[in-house]
Amino acid sequence: MLKVVVVGADGRMGREVVKAVLQENDLSLVGAVDTRNHGHDIGTLVNGTPYGVLLAGNLGRVLEETGADVVVDFTTPDIVMGNLEVVLKHQVHMVIGTTGISGDSVEEINREAAEAGVGVVIAPNFAIGAILMMKFAAEAAKYLPHVEIIELHHDQKLDAPSGTALKTADLIKNNREFIRQGHPDEIEKITGARGGETYGMRIHSVRLPGLVAHQEVIFGGLGQTLTIRHDSNNRESFMPGVILAIRKVVNLKGVTYGLEKLLTE
Ligand code: NAD
Repeated sequence: MLKVVVVGADGRMGREVVKAVLQENDLSLVGAVDTRNHGHDIGTLVNGTPYGVLLAGNLGRVLEETGADVVVDFTTPDIVMGNLEVVLKHQVHMVIGTTGISGDSVEEINREAAEAGVGVVIAPNFAIGAILMMKFAAEAAKYLPHVEIIELHHDQKLDAPSGTALKTADLIKNNREFIRQGHPDEIEKITGARGGETYGMRIHSVRLPGLVAHQEVIFGGLGQTLTIRHDSNNRESFMPGVILAIRKVVNLKGVTYGLEKLLTE
């Protein structure tokens, strides 16, 4: 039985992870950490049924008291690195869904996790359909190198563009030469109208209530376009990926970046 602690447990994703962990026979939820609702039973908060785990504020203390095997973090980009330090100090494996971790930080985390002898899975998107969308987009870029990415999320998202959009651009850049897209003399009448640029690709971020997590990758060629689109219509869509990562991370050392690595190993 793997002992799991969820950090950010009272958040939108954290509550969904708590629900998902409670449904698995081989996983035991031993701790729930957040900055709010301390002392409230997490089972009551997510399902309306008490479970016996109370929301707490001190991650280090929870790890000491529970002897957890895996910490799952869905907090905020400015908080996750501090949590990671605490988790590595206690030599506990970690699954990170929080987005906004820079490429430079990933290398540093890899070194520290390897030193601590534990695995850290970092995945900007735990939805399997999104992984396929990225894979198909990377393939299409070999034949249709002109591409723009439109990512659409709920309006409470802190980072833009999304981790998934950046990852998609990163995969595409490996499959095409750098090209400057659009008219060389184009004029932006409103700053940002053409989106943010990375590796010569434009990324556009839409933020609206009612959305969850969606992305379109649009390729343009002579007389044709190809659109590859994925929609996470609710947060349950991420849970099979999160549960898979919890089960696999205990056999890993250092950083594994991207859910796709777990699907192929
Ligand atoms: P949210 O704001 O609903 O939840 C964040 C939670 O973290 C809140 O409950 C907040 O109180 C808590 N928190 C803040 N500071 C904390 C601290 N110091 N210690 C413990 N808890 C703390 O946000 P959300 O929509 O659940 O998203 C969380 C993160 O997950 C974001 O970075 C988002 O981009 C990311 N996300 C990732 C995926 C994926 O598949 N990887 C999918 C959706 C969202």
